[in-house]
Amino acid sequence: MGAALEIRNLHVNIDDKPILRGVNLTVKQGEVHALMGPNGSGKSTLANVLLGNPAYEVTAGQIIFDGQDLLDMEPDERSRAGLFLAFQYPVGIPGVTLANFLRLAINARMKAENPESKGISVSDFRKMMRQKMDSLQMDHSFAGRYLNEGFSGGEKKRAEILQMAVLNPKIAILDETDSGLDIDALRVVSEGVNSLRGPDLGVLVITHYQRILNYINPQFVHIMFEGQIVETGGADLALKLEQSGYDWVREKHGATE
Ligand code: ADP
Ligand code: MG
Repeated sequence: MGAALEIRNLHVNIDDKPILRGVNLTVKQGEVHALMGPNGSGKSTLANVLLGNPAYEVTAGQIIFDGQDLLDMEPDERSRAGLFLAFQYPVGIPGVTLANFLRLAINARMKAENPESKGISVSDFRKMMRQKMDSLQMDHSFAGRYLNEGFSGGEKKRAEILQMAVLNPKIAILDETDSGLDIDALRVVSEGVNSLRGPDLGVLVITHYQRILNYINPQFVHIMFEGQIVETGGADLALKLEQSGYDWVREKHGATE
């Protein structure tokens, strides 16, 4: 049995205002899900809660990851347990290349698992990086780039996908909201997901971009609206959004006056 991320009846407040109002969603290893929905529906709020952002107050519900209570785990424990969440830049650390950063991340994980561990050797790390970058069709020079030195939206996403490939998570959550309408960034993420997808990886791609099917083929599509998942379907649901937008969702599920 593979691992699963199970979100059950999740209620979340920001500044005492209810934002998520009973979210239910299960993502299993081997599955690719798209979470869609109009701006302001609560998609990023869900991503922030999964990340462990303390500004978001969980007032009810549960999140179970691989049999453990996720809300009891620190962000680094979540990562070690096999949950990958969007790339967090180590801001203010000058002179760190992407490769160094990824090696530090791997070593930290190995030390956490076994305090005696000396970490990955430089040559093993180089070999692994080369393999991962080849499978993602990334230029090897990319790993030598310095973090925070003018990464474009697409390059940030490329770094995120490479980090995901290196950390080899069970479930990955990719929130596209920060990149807004940057189609380049979405293409990078989609190609990365497409080349990494397989029986051991579950993915939740969060996006408001309606033409997602041009890039990625999720088995499950969910629509969030006013803090709840109001529709779940297959690729047909994404097609409907592409053709008709979100107006029908508002009409069907919006509060009546
Ligand atoms: P989405 O990602 O679907 O566009 P968000 O989760 O960003 O939606 O936002 C959902 C609602 O929560 C919006 O009404 C937004 O204004 C509010 N919200 C999100 N983050 C904050 C915050 N940090 N402080 C106050 N309100 C917030
Ligand atoms: Mg958002």
